Parts: sequence; structure tokens; C-alpha cells
Amino acid sequence: MTHRIHNFNAGPATLPLSVLEEVQAELLDFKGCGMSIMEMSHRSPEYMEVHTEVQTLTSELLGLGDDYKVLFLGGGASTQFYMIPQNLLSGGRKGDYIVTGTWAKKAAKEAKLFGEVHIAHDAANADGKFTYIPTQDQLHLSPDAAYLHYTTNNTIAGTQFHYYPKAPAGVPVICDMSSDIFWKKFDPRPFGLIYAGAQKNLGPAGVTMVIIRKDMLDRCADGIPTMISYKTHADNDSLFNTAPVFPIYVVGKVLKWIKALGGLGAIEKRNREKAGLIYGAIDANPDFFRSPIQRESRSVMNIVWRLPSEDLEKTFIAEAKKSGLGGLKGHRSVGGCRASTYNAMPIEGVKALVGFMEAFAKKNG
Ligand code: PMP
Repeated sequence: MTHRIHNFNAGPATLPLSVLEEVQAELLDFKGCGMSIMEMSHRSPEYMEVHTEVQTLTSELLGLGDDYKVLFLGGGASTQFYMIPQNLLSGGRKGDYIVTGTWAKKAAKEAKLFGEVHIAHDAANADGKFTYIPTQDQLHLSPDAAYLHYTTNNTIAGTQFHYYPKAPAGVPVICDMSSDIFWKKFDPRPFGLIYAGAQKNLGPAGVTMVIIRKDMLDRCADGIPTMISYKTHADNDSLFNTAPVFPIYVVGKVLKWIKALGGLGAIEKRNREKAGLIYGAIDANPDFFRSPIQRESRSVMNIVWRLPSEDLEKTFIAEAKKSGLGGLKGHRSVGGCRASTYNAMPIEGVKALVGFMEAFAKKNG
């Protein structure tokens, strides 16, 4: 039997086993074509069917109206950090940014290259760490901003917005949903643009999903490089140049897997249960485990915690690995432990982790 661990990596991250098995079965001969999907033209009818199906499934699962376009772009979510302001701030416009983590900070930094940036809230503490999500009342929003940008889930910090910040009338909301897109259903209407690198909750690295409301296209600057313009990709249905066909194909399989599980309602229930078990183990052992995150801001996707010492953390991570629990090291900028419990992480993996945490606390506490 193939050896598979419980993989808590933050991204690239675990994928549903059934999806990997399907990919494996189709790898050498995709639907009788005599070649893999990686070897065929991105304009072939066989690939086009996949491309369209992923767009349709995205719209269906998220409940997007006809006024939204689903794009597949390269360059990772980090490319969106500059693509957004280059399209929407050119000409001296202002973007509002809520800074709740490393990635939001990077997004704001890039935006400064193209326009004015107003920080609506900076959640960094004196050490530069992020441990909470501001409330709506704590946001200083500009009524004349070209958009309001924020990150729904802070992969490194382990914090997550559990409400959808309201922007002033007429200001579209732009969101980095890289680490929590498709974790639950939400109302897409306030969003002018949503983006997510695929490698956490959606599929392999190599494609970024961008969901753009069509009226936003009219606000995009002219005279910017062709590949940077959202209009190019929207007008050409993400086939202006060679699309990243393999990751798009796997994203399609992951979305079908979500649908077969019962859609986003079922996925949310599963995700809350998983996170609840891990936070439960942390809270049940307060002398041993400590969550550095404000309770209301805790992420359902990336759960972070500390042990009484860095040495114990190292031992915990090493022993967990020996027990088949991988990817538990916190991000190098914050240390500690982190379990990423994206959609594809099965409840069995979480139960195994919780069992290990409890036994470790008993032995070392
Ligand atoms: N935003 C968030 C919330 C992320 O977690 C990451 C990656 N960890 C990024 C952006 C950057 O993504 P990419 O590596 O695809 O550029």
C-alpha cells in the first residue's frame, strides 16, 4: 500500500486522496486521447471542456451571478498584489487596505507603487505580530477609495475574519481568499474581485483563481501591459496565452469532490468540527498548550499554538512526524506549531493529531 501521512502543510497542502487517484488513473491517457492533459493544446476541445467546467462549478458552488467572470491566472496570489493596483489605482487613486497579516502587508506595499494607499487598520502589535482581527468599528474607511482590500484568512498568523467588513457605499471590496476560499458559502455581491492561489484549498500550485465582477473591468486602466490587464484575460476567457492546464484540471476535480460531499454547507460543517477538535485540545490543556490568538479571531483553516518552550515545540513536531503527522511547524516568522486543516484534511487526520496532542501533554506536562 502507498504510504500517506496526515499532512497539515499550509500550502502546497493535502489534496483529497480520491482526486489524486483519479489524476493518477487519467495521467497517461486522458479520456482516450492517448496523451495526458499536460501534453495537449490548451485550445483542444478536450481541454476546453475542462476549462469551462471549472468555471461553471465555481459559479455554481459560490452562487455567482452572470455578472461575475471566473479567471485562471499565473504568477500566484503575489502577482495579484500588484495587478490589482496597477489596474485600479493608476491615475493617483486611493486603495484602502486592512492589514491583518504578512500577506496583507505585502499587498499594501505593492499597491504603493501604483497609487495612494490608506491603511484602514494595522493589526500588527509592537513585535510586528498579528493576533487579532479588527471589528468593523475599528476600521477607518475612505468613502472615496477605489476599493477596500483585505485578507479573509491569515495563513501565517492563524487569524480569520468571521464577518464581512462593509465598505462605504460605492466602494468595491477586494479580497485575498487564498487560504479559505470554498471553506463555506458567502454572499459574493459586495465583492468586486476575489483572488486565491490554488495551492491551499483548491488544488496544486500554479494557478490563481480570480473572480471579477464585470463592472470592475470598466474601471481598469488602459495602457498597462497586456498580461497585467484583467480586460485581456476576461476578453479571452483566460486563454490569451497558455493556461496552466494541469492545476486547472485538478482544481476541477477538487470542486467536483466538494460538490459530491454536499457542497459548501457540508464542507463548512466538516471544517468547523475539525477546528473545534483542535482548539478543544488546546483549551483543555491550558498549562501546556497556548493559543496566541484572540479567541474571536481564531482561524478555522490554520490553527496555531505554542508549547511551554521552543525545545518542547521542536520535540513535539519531531515526534508527531514519527507518528505520521506532518507539516506541523509554524511559519518561520512566528515559530510555534500550526495545523492547516483545509477542506481536504479528513476528520481522521484531525482526530489522530488531537490524540497525539493529548498524549504529548500528559507525558511532558
Ligand atoms: N495570500 C495568502 C493569504 C497566502 O497565504 C499566500 C501564500 N501563503 C499568498 C497570498 C501568496 O501566494 P503565492 O505564493 O501564490 O504568491
